[in-house]
Amino acid sequence: MSRVSFSRQRVKLKKLIGIRARLVLLALILVAPLMLERARSLESERARQVAAASADLTDLSRHSANTLKEVVSSVEAVMKSAAYITASVGGVGRSCDILQASLPANLPWIRRLMIVGVDGRVQCSTIRAQVGRDLSNRAYLKQARQTGDFVFSDFLLANLDSKPIMMAAYPVSAINKEFDSVVVTGIDLDWISKFVSDLGEHPGISAVMIDGSGVVLAAPKQKTNPIGRPLSDVPMLSPIAEKVIGSDQADGSLSFTAPDGSEHVAKFSRIAGTQSRLILSVDEAKVSADINREIRTAYLQLLFVCLFVLLGALIAAEKLIIRPIETIAAMAKRFGQGEWAVRAANTRLPAEFVPLVRALNAMAAQLSERERQLIASNDRLTVMASIDMLSGLANRRGFQSRLDFEWMKALQHEGELSLMMIDVDHFKLFNDTYGHPEGDACLSRVGETLAAIAADTMGFAGRYGGEEFCLLLPNTDAARALEIGEIVRAAVQDLAMPHATSSHQTVTVSVGVAGTRPSATQRPGDLIEAADAALYAAKHRGRNAVVEHGFVRITDGPMALAS
Ligand code: GH3
Ligand code: MG
Ligand code: MG
Repeated sequence: MSRVSFSRQRVKLKKLIGIRARLVLLALILVAPLMLERARSLESERARQVAAASADLTDLSRHSANTLKEVVSSVEAVMKSAAYITASVGGVGRSCDILQASLPANLPWIRRLMIVGVDGRVQCSTIRAQVGRDLSNRAYLKQARQTGDFVFSDFLLANLDSKPIMMAAYPVSAINKEFDSVVVTGIDLDWISKFVSDLGEHPGISAVMIDGSGVVLAAPKQKTNPIGRPLSDVPMLSPIAEKVIGSDQADGSLSFTAPDGSEHVAKFSRIAGTQSRLILSVDEAKVSADINREIRTAYLQLLFVCLFVLLGALIAAEKLIIRPIETIAAMAKRFGQGEWAVRAANTRLPAEFVPLVRALNAMAAQLSERERQLIASNDRLTVMASIDMLSGLANRRGFQSRLDFEWMKALQHEGELSLMMIDVDHFKLFNDTYGHPEGDACLSRVGETLAAIAADTMGFAGRYGGEEFCLLLPNTDAARALEIGEIVRAAVQDLAMPHATSSHQTVTVSVGVAGTRPSATQRPGDLIEAADAALYAAKHRGRNAVVEHGFVRITDGPMALAS
């Protein structure tokens, strides 16, 4: 990469990280840690809540299983006591009344209590309509007789009212081998569903109870009642149906994704003494719904805080830094363009800029003063550069610029312009005779004389060089110029400055005159040349003479024609 493009990129980078960008970056650096800290604490709060929900679920699962176990225990206790009563009273017939009277009212889940005889028919029942019913083909009855212990059936629908029930059977022979009858109860699953529904009141938690074959025994009331259907038909729990039913563990825990995409954690536990299992599942999203809302609100707040801080930084940068800099830069620019009086007002600037503005204003004042002095001394120098110190007249340079100026004027107004060249005669001899200082004095007097005539004739006198002078006569034709030339010649002669080595014995001058009406084809130099030629002619004529270029005029002195 070449040096040029490298430095261009540096300039671009510098523009990018200007004061505004730097302040915004600074504000972000200040806000970002707060943002991150808040986000981090909210995230950890969410994790804590999910963990707490999981722990709650475990507790709840254990507690619920215990509660249901107590239900089962209470059923067992009732059935055992019924078996005792039957055995001790010595037969179903005598014990039936006692049994009907002894069914505790505080165990709402026990819907009915029956004693089934050896023939499989109901001999006694707390629901009289059940007496005589043939239950001989019921698996739970057979199993109870075989095992001699409690047996709980899977899901059943009551014949009577088609309500979901679970049957429990206990053979009286377990108490006394002489009796073949079996105590049978119907457990109200509606009641258990209510219990399960109560569990579901915990936020994000849903509960179901299934029997050994995976049929739902109890579930909270919902649109499509799952009771009596296999667990695999319950949409939210279908993913875990196989694992729970197939598991030979009493308790377990599973994580799964429900068909609606929500993440769940499920706990299942077997209810002691039965094949039933209670399944509790927690929807992580619902558990953390509140904290999620809080996190969203916090992020929104942080976003607004960030925007507010950024806006503040931009406004502060604009008002406190950029605008003062622009004000000062504008003042410096106007000052640079020559507005010497311009000053920056420091009243509306931040205090930090006041010393800078004061220093700039002081510098501007000093510079404008120096500029004023410079212009004045420049003017003086210009004047001095165009003045001849010896004669006090304009020097050649001053004369030249005046000639150009008058030429332009005459050109514009189609006026006349005349010029005369005046040369001191035999001045070398004068110097030789009287010395150089005397020569200077002589030139000075000739200058004074010429200045006076210029003042009278509205002319402009100058020292063209050495002992040669010139007189510019605006608005003057050659004839008038010739007259003035004669005035000059005579005035110098009248000074009567002695010049012993001159044929005239006094200092005299020769004068060449030229006049014209300037046109676009002519140059000021043409007028000088013409006057010079006339002067040459005057010298040639014997000096102390006035000659007009192109004409011969008779004067007091010698006359000549220059061409
Ligand atoms: P001519 O009549 O032909 O003009 O003769 P001239 O001697 O005047 O002319 P020339 O050109 O031969 O000599 C001019 C002299 O003027 C030479 C120089 O020493 C003298 N001179 C020029 N400038 C000054 C000056 O400033 N002071 C003095 N004292 N002499 C000067
Ligand atoms: Mg000369
Ligand atoms: Mg001379």
